[in-house]
Amino acid sequence: MSDTTILVTGSSRGIGRAIALRLARDGYMPVLHCRSRLDEATAVADEIEALRGMRPRILQCDVAERQQTAEVLLQDVETHGCYYGVVCNAGIARDNAFPAMPAEDWDAVIHTNLDSFYNVLNPLTMPLVRRRKPGRIVTLASVSGLMGNRGQVNYSAAKAGIIGATKALAVELASRAITVNCVAPGLIDTEMIEPHVLEEAMKIIPSRRMGKPEEVAATVSFLMSEDAAYITRQVISVNGGMIG
Ligand code: NDP
Repeated sequence: MSDTTILVTGSSRGIGRAIALRLARDGYMPVLHCRSRLDEATAVADEIEALRGMRPRILQCDVAERQQTAEVLLQDVETHGCYYGVVCNAGIARDNAFPAMPAEDWDAVIHTNLDSFYNVLNPLTMPLVRRRKPGRIVTLASVSGLMGNRGQVNYSAAKAGIIGATKALAVELASRAITVNCVAPGLIDTEMIEPHVLEEAMKIIPSRRMGKPEEVAATVSFLMSEDAAYITRQVISVNGGMIG
């Protein structure tokens, strides 16, 4: 089964949960991951077990913590073999106008959203290459990383960094048949969205609605498929026309 396993970071809820469920429905076996909400990850594992008749593993670590993340991932890979795909989805937002932004909110967002690219993918890159088979990496950026959002200087910086890192890694891994792409959602209906941003945001979303986590998941699942083998180094937006 290791040929269909896909690690989805931050799959206890929100977009990550929808990605894990969609991948399971499309015939892959997700490896779930969370930081603290193990009960919610366990509920996702229950749903997948009901769907597929097999129970997915759940990994737990803080992706901002380099050593802890490497230990958890390498132990899983040593025990079960390397994944076919990795979805770097776990992330946080800590919004504030820049002059009022506490240093700890800058650090938390950069560590969780950008350093996690290194913390998750650096330990996994050589195991992925050594499989000598096609592989897939998808990272989650954001419309904020493409256009810069008021109140999100930290988040925009982290997500723009993710786009650059994703494109560079794609070049390094292309000859190994490992594709590396970025999905950049707009405003998606999850816990991350604070109600006060909604009214303003609606004015700049041509579709006049938030996206659903399932709509992001569908794009991620396509990028995981064999049909997407020649798509690499790309940023695919899922944003209701917010930017073109
Ligand atoms: P949610 O807040 O709904 O879920 C976040 C997930 O990430 C949870 O599973 C959480 O685990 C996990 N997580 C958070 N911090 C850490 C950490 N330090 N270590 C490990 N896991 C962590 O977020 P969304 O589903 O909305 O967002 C998912 C991704 O999509 C993020 O990268 C986000 O930036 C991006 N995105 C979201 C948009 C939106 O509008 N919602 C728009 C654009 C991009 P736990 O449950 O254990 O806390």
